[in-house]
Amino acid sequence: MTLPRQQAFGRPAVLRREAVAAVVPVAVAALLAAASPAAAAAAAGGAPGVGDPYFTLAGNGGYDVRHYALTLGYDPGSRHLDGKAVVTARATQRLTRFDLDLKGLKVTGVTVGHDKAAFRRDGQELVITPKHALREGREFRVTVTYAGKPAPVTDPDGSLDGWIPTDDGAFVAGEPQGAMTWFPGNNHPKDKASYDITLTVPEGRTAVSNGVLLGRRTAHGRTTFRWRQAEPMAAYLATATVGTFEVERYRTADGIEVYNAVDPREAAEAAPVLKKLPSVLAWESKLFGPYPFRAAGAVVDHAPRVGYALETQTRPVYDRAPDLGTLVHESAHQWFGDSVSLTSWKDIWLNEGFATYAEWLYAEQHGGESAQKAFDDLYARPAADDLWAFAPADPGDGAHIFATPVYARGAMALHKLRTAVGDPVFFRVLRTWAADHRDGHGTTAQFTRLAERLSGKDLDALFRTWIGTAGKPQRP
Ligand code: ZN
Repeated sequence: MTLPRQQAFGRPAVLRREAVAAVVPVAVAALLAAASPAAAAAAAGGAPGVGDPYFTLAGNGGYDVRHYALTLGYDPGSRHLDGKAVVTARATQRLTRFDLDLKGLKVTGVTVGHDKAAFRRDGQELVITPKHALREGREFRVTVTYAGKPAPVTDPDGSLDGWIPTDDGAFVAGEPQGAMTWFPGNNHPKDKASYDITLTVPEGRTAVSNGVLLGRRTAHGRTTFRWRQAEPMAAYLATATVGTFEVERYRTADGIEVYNAVDPREAAEAAPVLKKLPSVLAWESKLFGPYPFRAAGAVVDHAPRVGYALETQTRPVYDRAPDLGTLVHESAHQWFGDSVSLTSWKDIWLNEGFATYAEWLYAEQHGGESAQKAFDDLYARPAADDLWAFAPADPGDGAHIFATPVYARGAMALHKLRTAVGDPVFFRVLRTWAADHRDGHGTTAQFTRLAERLSGKDLDALFRTWIGTAGKPQRP
């Protein structure tokens, strides 16, 4: 099986340089905000970011979201979006003021509880001042009404992210930042929540989101789709992809509800791959433990300008008909990345290294090349190759979180672990990881500790060499 799909994410160096320049003011703003923590505390304002060094304004401090109820209407012709977001959250400190992340669009009203709240926009921060301060521990409900023409953000690596209009709707994928282009929220994987997403589109179009379809109703030439994502989800994994789609629904032998939506232009190529979804999920369940969600599926769009697929929770979005390796990859993310989430973008190898290694394992167990062969071919690359440019567990900045070392060298590190501890322990580590952190979070340090505990081995040198050190390791 060919591996380097990550190549597709790499963008020309020129684009990268511009993107880095664009990021500087953001970093400066965060430094300024952090400059007087005492003053911030006295005013009891929530921080404008959760403290992620790669995306300093991503997420917000001071509260924890429980649930999002999003009611959206989209008109693909005019590209106009109407939105209402009801965000239920708990204050983790006293709050006289707090932020939601929202980029672009026009906010027409904000209430906190039953009271109108004051608000202002400051870059990607929607700064809300409730009429009455919220005491620590209090659960509160924020309602934001908004509208406008959503536009994607350009990530530091040059790729488009967020609400990306297509010729018949929109391709909606939010990793790492794009959720804020279509709904206000706490835009960092640290804060997971359940979602109800209701989407209204012109009759004949289909609006696909995460989880289970509760209902579908057409009236006056418009169709409303009601989706429920019951298990906690990171904001970047939410989708609301709209298009002209062929829909297929069934239930797997394990009782998982499958909903596939396929652009007719991609249907012929997608069909043989999508047919394998139940067997891929069953195979992964055997390796990684029970599939973590009640729903599954795929959205295969025709969105050539996107250039990547995303593991949107329960229902990955593909910008074109996927090959089998990509299907295996995005499916593996349901365990690694979606159910077990990052607390920091720096740990992204826990997502991409694992999903890439799943591809190697799939090939190995389905008549393709062995994982050892994949490892050896990569190891043969010269020391100057991009593969060795940085340590997988230390991409350095947001521009490199989807680069080759994260995917390929991350998978190599897992292969080293596997050969060091043997198959039984290795797969027990993967299953325990998925089970212990299900619907939650995991860090690199927690993973390495788990591997040491279950193997009874000191794996310090192995992990230091393979995920913690830049440059080609001396020995394979
Ligand atoms: Zn991936």
